[in-house]
Amino acid sequence: MNIDIELIQESKIDTVDFNNLAFGRTFTDHMLICDFADGEWKTPKIMPYGPLSFEPSARVFHYGQAVFEGMKAYKDDNDDVFLFRPDENFHRINKSGARLAMPPVPENVFFEGLKKLLELDNAWIKKGIGNSLYIRPFIIASEGAIAASPAEEYKFIIICSPAQSYYAGEVRVIFAEEYSRSADGGVGFAKAAGNYAAQFYPTSLAHKEGYQQIIWTDANTHEYLEEAGTMNIFFRIGDKLVTAPTNDRILDGVTRKSIIQLAKDYNIDIEVRRVSVAEIKEAARQGELKEIFGSGTAAVINPIKGFKHQNEAFELPEISDSYASFFKDKLLNIQYNKLEDKHNWRV
Ligand code: PMP
Repeated sequence: MNIDIELIQESKIDTVDFNNLAFGRTFTDHMLICDFADGEWKTPKIMPYGPLSFEPSARVFHYGQAVFEGMKAYKDDNDDVFLFRPDENFHRINKSGARLAMPPVPENVFFEGLKKLLELDNAWIKKGIGNSLYIRPFIIASEGAIAASPAEEYKFIIICSPAQSYYAGEVRVIFAEEYSRSADGGVGFAKAAGNYAAQFYPTSLAHKEGYQQIIWTDANTHEYLEEAGTMNIFFRIGDKLVTAPTNDRILDGVTRKSIIQLAKDYNIDIEVRRVSVAEIKEAARQGELKEIFGSGTAAVINPIKGFKHQNEAFELPEISDSYASFFKDKLLNIQYNKLEDKHNWRV
């Protein structure tokens, strides 16, 4: 595949303090852009990262026709660079795009484009567990026309941002009782941009109460726990791990499915089934609820310290041999090429 390449004149890398990176604020030297027009994807371009210009009427601004992905590149001790299950992200961006009536990005544009971009910006991927390059592929409806119908022109773009290990601080959550993130038949399973904007307001209300995140419940009854804003969610009751099945309201997370597989590999009792708020509150009262943690590419695993539901607050116990740290350790060691990769997740 041909890629048109315009290199940056002078790298910005020396201006970056890699020990003080705020997540998602610093971008590498280059980005990849591929235009869709006249019914086809054109030759992709790699060019210096920088502002783009759009017609104010571009449909993405009015109708939110936009989907994205989140993945990471890791560098091992020998300077080899790995992605973790990137085929999952490729299929998911096109599954998201299909729901928003967008044309699928071709496999070679996604993979060869990304590979070339990572070769050019290789120096931005720092070694050491926790250091990574966060990769943000996205597709937007770029055609200028304020008509509420699918665009005929799109841009597929990949930008990359160096990241350090992500520590969200102590996380306490509210189990959603009023607002919903997604509904049956809706777009919850897609990484549609609007899914995230719609969470900002309810999450800001949670912040005012001293909670960092919301665990979304099913929109019909608010009785079943589904996922957090950017993470899938696991509950440990006794020694059993439970997580909700994915459906059209829940994002099919790569970290989630990897944890389910690892649990099977290491003989940890894992159940994929609906989890009710009542069950979790009862387990907490009985002292059986040992852990809640979220899973996602950015933080890998995020332990949750406590939760609130109907004005009742619960704290989770401090435990030394947590599943959260067990799975985080396994995943990181696979990602950084320090552990046998028996499922061929590293690419
Ligand atoms: N749920 C939502 C809504 C998300 O945005 C994400 C982040 N992609 C996840 C779960 C976790 O998915 P993954 O493990 O693939 O990063």
